[in-house]
Amino acid sequence: METYLFHLDKDIRVVRKLELSGVPRGEIQKYWLHLVTNGIGQPIHIPVLIARGKSDGPVLGITAAIHGNEINGLFVIQRMFRKLQVEQLSGIVIGIPVVNVPSFLRKQRRFPDGTDLNHIMPGKENGNVSEVYAYRFVQNVVKNIDFLIDLHTASFGRINSYYVRADMEDEQTAALAYLQNPDIIVHNPPSDGTLRGAADEMGIPAVTLEIGDPNRFQKDMVQSAYEGVQNAMVHLRMIDGEILEPNIPPVECSHSYWIYADTGGILSVHPELTDFVHEGDVIATIHNAFGDIVKRYKAPEEGVVIGKNVHPMCQTGGRILHLGVLG
Ligand SMILES: [Zn+2]
Repeated sequence: METYLFHLDKDIRVVRKLELSGVPRGEIQKYWLHLVTNGIGQPIHIPVLIARGKSDGPVLGITAAIHGNEINGLFVIQRMFRKLQVEQLSGIVIGIPVVNVPSFLRKQRRFPDGTDLNHIMPGKENGNVSEVYAYRFVQNVVKNIDFLIDLHTASFGRINSYYVRADMEDEQTAALAYLQNPDIIVHNPPSDGTLRGAADEMGIPAVTLEIGDPNRFQKDMVQSAYEGVQNAMVHLRMIDGEILEPNIPPVECSHSYWIYADTGGILSVHPELTDFVHEGDVIATIHNAFGDIVKRYKAPEEGVVIGKNVHPMCQTGGRILHLGVLG
């Protein structure tokens, strides 16, 4: 019988800690980072790509799939590293194509214990299963980073515009937000339990980039996010190049909120993504199973459609539309 000691791929080393200074200059290295161990003693590894330029510069982190069903970000990171001219890079790029490995494997948003990892950051050293996972990710990965772009998509049954959430009162963070050339920017202060908020609180300018819909690969969205990340690298003087300007300036929102249904039924949400709605516009209709109109919902104020529910089955308390309020 052939026996072997944890052989995955000879080019990909298994590590317990990221040591950026150990990455050879002018090279891209791939690692499996052993973060935690599962219930039969098997390590859970997260994939890490590190590109270290020949000259020094900032450390840019790109993270994806902290929600396990949000796939587009993975392709952004793969494309970025595939195209990166590491000999010309200044500084270091760290890419995590899948942060939440257990949930990615289950095609689920939440961690297997039911927790939303992006609500409990920066985690707890002696916390429960999800809190420790979050804590070790922050300690082992995020602490190495100077600037963070966290890639997301909408949740199951919903669709999103191409938009950014960022603390626009911080100058560096605001610059990162504009560089993504999004359709919409929503001002969102930190301290909200998100990875972005945890990074902000550690003094790491961070933005959340929402790139489309869950559970799928969207070529155009991936390309837009790829260009946004490239823009950030040019801006940070990590690579040479031109900053791509947006075709249309982003719509800037002071805040945003979801409009929820106070009854249940078959839902249709009428405006399209990025549409503007005015106070009193009918934005959604709920029918019962027999086809009778149960309720029409109107926009409570003027705003822009950031995201919307596209799943027809809507229970009382279900989400209808994510409204951005201009400011
Ligand atoms: Zn997400």
